[in-house]
Amino acid sequence: MLNKRVWKRLLGVEHTVLERLEAEETTAGGLLLVAYVRPDALRALRCPHCDRRCGRYDAGDGRRRWRPLDLGTVRCLLEADAPRVRCPGHGVAVAAVPWAHPGSRFTTCFEDTVAWTAAHAPFSTVTRLLRVTWRTVTGIVTRVIARATAGADRLDGLERIGIDEIAYRKGHRYLTIVVNHADGTIVWAAEGRNCATLNTFFDALGGRAAALTHVTCDGAEWIHRPVRERAPQALLCLDPFHVVKWGTDALDALRRRMAADLRRRGRAGPAAALKGTRWILIRNPGDLTGTQRTTLAGLQHTNKRLYRAYLIKEQLRQVFAARADGGRALLAGLIAWCRRCRITEFVKLGATLTRFQPLIINTLESGLSNARLEATNTHLRALTKRANGFHTPDALIAMAALTRGGLCPPLPGRL
Ligand SMILES: [Zn+2]
Repeated sequence: MLNKRVWKRLLGVEHTVLERLEAEETTAGGLLLVAYVRPDALRALRCPHCDRRCGRYDAGDGRRRWRPLDLGTVRCLLEADAPRVRCPGHGVAVAAVPWAHPGSRFTTCFEDTVAWTAAHAPFSTVTRLLRVTWRTVTGIVTRVIARATAGADRLDGLERIGIDEIAYRKGHRYLTIVVNHADGTIVWAAEGRNCATLNTFFDALGGRAAALTHVTCDGAEWIHRPVRERAPQALLCLDPFHVVKWGTDALDALRRRMAADLRRRGRAGPAAALKGTRWILIRNPGDLTGTQRTTLAGLQHTNKRLYRAYLIKEQLRQVFAARADGGRALLAGLIAWCRRCRITEFVKLGATLTRFQPLIINTLESGLSNARLEATNTHLRALTKRANGFHTPDALIAMAALTRGGLCPPLPGRL
């Protein structure tokens, strides 16, 4: 037979006395293993706030159950007394237990496993594998991250930040998010996308706003105005991916207009062919397949106007790929090109670029790595796709910290 030491390892508990084990039949015909436990003499009757050894106050609300990891295919529960203690510093509270964090219905091993799995697997896998609801997962992740940061304020030490909006809950709602460019983590998020929302961020930041040197964002006035008012010394920089998107949007608008023209003139074939070029035009040239490259090369002869527009879009990308000096010259050349190209969509793009030229130059001179900004953005969009399951902005922040902030706990029991 296995001894108690092995059983404790199986259950993932330490400083715990295993009193007995019982197998219960569940109503669904399954098996439930219940481990009756208590803290050992060293860990008994500790204050949940300061870990101090305290006097017993009363029996509290009686016995409690916690969920550890399953043992193979069998569900388990830990059951123990939950007495209250009286701490000289914190008053009366339910005593801490060595196998779980205060207030949690899950063991620490279980919570760490949930957090690790949530960081590495699709959400549906997490909920099925660990037999928990999605709300439980986000609650656990939020607690794990709060413990990992141990109350440290994420708004401390911010210098370069990004401000953006993301749609969540299937695009019905928006969150304003603030990213710390030093490590790419989300440091703040709140519902809404307007000056008032952003002002609550600056209220929380307080005097620390004076330390901000760069703020990256898109061209939205609801971001620019509060930044100018609350952190006037910070340089406003336009995020490269937003600016490049203006170029791809202009190109797409032109392509659609040309296809509509063709259809109107009864030329369905060429119109359909044009429709097929959409992704070729939008994708980065390095990502194109051989066939797509051939189509693009053909366009050079068959549709000179569209190909010219494509080259303008590509130069816009090159602005951010070049170093500051080269980028500035490329941008000036690009604006001049847009002005004289006689393509409505790109004349408009030229006007927009002229308006935001100083902010784009700020980006070029900021030394912020384009690849880094891009990676952060990609990460955020990926999180957003999963964000329909987030019930609070805090859960989204915690998930971002888990997947990108280096705060993911290791799987329990691995040496
Ligand atoms: Zn205490």
